[in-house]
Amino acid sequence: MLAAMSEQTETRKQRAARRAGEFPPAPEALAVPVLDSHTHLDITVSEAGVPGGPADDPVAAAIAVAAGVGVDRLVQVGVDVESSRWSADVAERYGAVLATVALHPNEAPRLADLDEALREIEALAGRSRVRGIGETGMDFFRTGDEGRAAQEESFRAHIAIAKRYGKALVIHDRDAHADVLRILDDEGAPDTVVLHCFSGDADFARECVRRGYLLSFAGTVTFGSATALREAAAVTPPGQLLVETDAPYLTPMPHRGRPNASYLIPLTVRFLADTTGTDLDELCAAISATGERAFGPW
Ligand SMILES: [Zn+2]
Ligand SMILES: [Zn+2]
Repeated sequence: MLAAMSEQTETRKQRAARRAGEFPPAPEALAVPVLDSHTHLDITVSEAGVPGGPADDPVAAAIAVAAGVGVDRLVQVGVDVESSRWSADVAERYGAVLATVALHPNEAPRLADLDEALREIEALAGRSRVRGIGETGMDFFRTGDEGRAAQEESFRAHIAIAKRYGKALVIHDRDAHADVLRILDDEGAPDTVVLHCFSGDADFARECVRRGYLLSFAGTVTFGSATALREAAAVTPPGQLLVETDAPYLTPMPHRGRPNASYLIPLTVRFLADTTGTDLDELCAAISATGERAFGPW
């Protein structure tokens, strides 16, 4: 009896481990198209593969699977010089994709020559399908004291590039809300500021809304423990709200732990419609309009 039970448990564990690496099934399609404001196609394909199975053109396949459920546009986000260059190239090849370019706040402090890398980012910033500078910002969770000065120097330089080229600034903020606002105030914020994977509470959301910033919510808003995040979403007007995957990470419930991709956006946007008491179709239309205003037209 005991042996049989533990054998059964073992099988269930093995099955869970195997499924953890698989893309979840496609959710029900949205009636009104929406966009994924922040995704990493390059990391998704190399770490998790292609939603829908192996394909000759993984990017085209990921775009097609997303379009099949109503997610017909996406923003591909660079995190270093190489991925930023790749993002800019991909945006020129695929009509559904726009790009942002930057050195990630956890990447900048590790660079031997930050100035040279920033020059490379600036060279990409002027390309017509590059519509944002990001992700940049501050991350006190993964970068310790020794990296803070370089992180802040990099963030300030990215703010300046966004303003010089008139592109949206896409901010990564982890445990650094006050410092992000301090540096934005000090430099003067660009016209369009997006807080990607918004992680603050309702008070911080109100402060960002007051400043005219856009708040992009990821699958984290669906997590059971994310009460403060749901309160933040509830005080964000539809005209300042975006939705994103940050794929391959932050897969929304009920698939937390499995790989993420743009085709899972309907799970997060449905959840947000419920949380904010907004009609789903109206919310999708508002998110599309906000995304087009920030990054578009595609
Ligand atoms: Zn980020
Ligand atoms: Zn990201």
